[in-house]
Amino acid sequence: MGSHRTAYERHAPDPRLVERSLADSEQAVFWIEDAEAPRHPALTASARSDLTIVGGGYLGLWSAVHAKRRDPGRRVVLLEAHTVGWAASGRNGGFCDASLTHGEDNGRARWPEEYDTLARLGTENLDGFEADVRELGLDCQWERTGMLSVAVEEHQVDWLRDRSPFLDRQQVRAEVDSPLFLAGHLDPDGCALVHPARLATELTRVAVGLGVEVHEHSPVTDVRRTSSGQVAVHTDRATVVSDHVVLATNVFGSLLRRNRLMTVPVYDYVLMTEPLSGAQLASIGWAGRQGLGDLAHQFHYARLSADHRILWGGYDAIYPTGGKVAVRHEDRPASHRRLAAHFLATFPQLEDVRFTHRWAGAIDTSTQFTAFYGTSHGGRVAHATGFTGLGVGATRFAAEVLLDLLGGVPTERTGLRMVRERPLPFPPEPLASVGINLTRWSLDRADHREGRRNPFLRVLDAAGLGFDS
Ligand SMILES: Cc1cc2nc3c(=O)[nH]c(=O)nc-3n(C[C@H](O)[C@H](O)[C@H](O)COP(=O)(O)OP(=O)(O)OC[C@H]3O[C@@H](n4cnc5c(N)ncnc54)[C@H](O)[C@@H]3O)c2cc1C
Repeated sequence: MGSHRTAYERHAPDPRLVERSLADSEQAVFWIEDAEAPRHPALTASARSDLTIVGGGYLGLWSAVHAKRRDPGRRVVLLEAHTVGWAASGRNGGFCDASLTHGEDNGRARWPEEYDTLARLGTENLDGFEADVRELGLDCQWERTGMLSVAVEEHQVDWLRDRSPFLDRQQVRAEVDSPLFLAGHLDPDGCALVHPARLATELTRVAVGLGVEVHEHSPVTDVRRTSSGQVAVHTDRATVVSDHVVLATNVFGSLLRRNRLMTVPVYDYVLMTEPLSGAQLASIGWAGRQGLGDLAHQFHYARLSADHRILWGGYDAIYPTGGKVAVRHEDRPASHRRLAAHFLATFPQLEDVRFTHRWAGAIDTSTQFTAFYGTSHGGRVAHATGFTGLGVGATRFAAEVLLDLLGGVPTERTGLRMVRERPLPFPPEPLASVGINLTRWSLDRADHREGRRNPFLRVLDAAGLGFDS
């Protein structure tokens, strides 16, 4: 059982080409630069509301929009620490997947008896998302192009054989032409692409249009019950007293002590090319504009933008020692160089293409790879977090769950085991660093050993514990 070099290592480009491809790139999020976002005033005066939402990413924004659609008369206040959509929601790959469970294998392993329901709810959520894009007029470059999964190693071809349709080498290269692609599987319907930052600004526009009061630069420091049983949401400058609160703070330090060890940030790195010329585009095909991902444990994802750039991300998943979100983790030249090298290995015909943007973001990782839910403060505060890199679609579903939980009337969603049960926490530091880095190392070894998982990963699998991006 020796160590094999991966396809990306066997096809490694000349390092000078890698340096050249990155030479003019700036450390900035393309999507955020490419979205016009009106600013919103900070909260300066205390107020009352029916519902206060903490966090202005997709989860907070969908919660705001759906709360107003359910009950237009209620007063809704949204408090965002920085600017709406600046975090994961403005900088992700824009793959809007039907899966609520981080894929079928994970869902079936954890909730076998309700997986079919979860799959149906996921499809309904994606269809509902598409209907909302239309009905709310969300100008977010929605494209329901599906997902193309590609095998870049022989052992990955075997993993695809029982999937239908199975695309052989010639068929997969007819979709997207790379000498690395050995086989593929196309899910034509289960994934859509969006412009992530525009989705956030558009949801904000709709929320404000429905009467939601949005405040930026308003970090919430504390959430407490008042003597009258309501909930006081404090910022440094003012307090909002509310009947109900949604916590949509994702991977940032939780306002609930019980959730502090439930998620860890895992940094994911991304590159964006300049717009491709007609000839460059023709050299790779990709007429179907599908989302693209390879099947390695440490996988890459790629997609086209509306102006024919290629977004190329993934592979390295870096857990910062201490487990805190910090802007300094976003600049990691080794990860961006590795991504550029893997891009050029995949598309040698694009060796003249330059990257214009490089960035990173914190993945909201939980030990079950998908969000968990709960209430606190006597049922008046609801939270969801831990989408583990697959939250673009799932946050819309999660917003409905949170509003159901606060509504107090049982629904199909609130009856789900996936919603009722809490996953295991991560261990505290320094154990978290040791465990997560050992897992990462093991996943890298598995990619170098024809996909075979070592005893450490098998123990984690058996315990239902894991680490993924
Ligand atoms: C690089 C990258 C690529 C990804 N690619 C994909 C993809 O292709 N498909 C997919 O499905 N998912 C992807 N994801 C994951 C996806 O982006 C997230 O799951 C999703 O955006 C989570 O939304 P959210 O609203 O929960 O969190 P966020 O967008 O992180 O929003 C949380 C907000 O809460 C605010 N906040 C935190 N604490 C406070 C406080 N105390 N007071 C006030 N505000 C506070 C923060 O400032 C932030 O704006 C990716 C993530 C990253 C980082």
